[in-house]
Amino acid sequence: MSLIYMLMSNKIYLCSISNIESGTCKEDCKFCTQSVKYRADIERYRRKDISDIVKEAQRARANKAVGFCLVTAGLGLDDRRLDYVCKAAYEVHKEVPDISIIACNGTASYEQLKELKKNGVENYNHNLETAQEFYSQICTSHSWEERYQTCLDAKKAGLFLCTGGIFGLGETHENRISMLKSIASLEPMSVPINFFHPNEALPLVENPLSKQEAFELIKLSRKYLPEQMIMIAGGRELMFGDEQYDVFKHGANAIVVGDYLTTQGKSAEQDIEAITALGYEIALECHS
Ligand code: SF4
Repeated sequence: MSLIYMLMSNKIYLCSISNIESGTCKEDCKFCTQSVKYRADIERYRRKDISDIVKEAQRARANKAVGFCLVTAGLGLDDRRLDYVCKAAYEVHKEVPDISIIACNGTASYEQLKELKKNGVENYNHNLETAQEFYSQICTSHSWEERYQTCLDAKKAGLFLCTGGIFGLGETHENRISMLKSIASLEPMSVPINFFHPNEALPLVENPLSKQEAFELIKLSRKYLPEQMIMIAGGRELMFGDEQYDVFKHGANAIVVGDYLTTQGKSAEQDIEAITALGYEIALECHS
């Protein structure tokens, strides 16, 4: 175990997500209800009002979230979407300066990422999702290499990188190790780990992982990523049920609080109460 991880191991980081544009993506990722191709029964809208986004950020900070992620559905940024995310980030940064802003807007160029940074974004989230060798089986409309390149460009633009993936898509153990090694090669600040949440509208109908296997995968992630913040994101409640806070015993040190992109989470208050009762400390700053 690395020194850095030991020092921060009693601290749990909370991060909140705002789906600022939902369900409008034309890509075909087989695990994603945001794709218009699968007609999943989710809320779909373009561009949430910026004043509502600011209110959500204020609520997130009041609930001890250190990070606030502005998520848009779609392959990536075009000029209009970039302008919208920049405006949202600028307003959130002005009104809630003590929350760290993450942008999660898909494929982005170096110039676009620099523009986000200029407007108050500190971190960029772009998940590799799965192994390079397995990617064509879960998505055919864009490449894994595009994802990797955006991650490199985010770092080059001076942003902290947040990149992770999803377990339970039918990948092999070798695929999992391959994904973790690729993530490690990017030296991200944080790594969101998701567990596939099945939805009957999707081409993938089940997540074959047992709870014990999922805990082992958190341990495996910690082994390959000893110094990163490991954040359990989508699928936490469904995968672990009453044992969901045991994710910390297995090496995670961050969770997403509140709702996910298209599924509901527990209330932040419930999470905070449970985490502090277990003797952990809630982190006060993202980059502490
Ligand atoms: S590109 Fe992103 S939003 Fe679009 S289907 Fe894939 S994972 Fe979902």
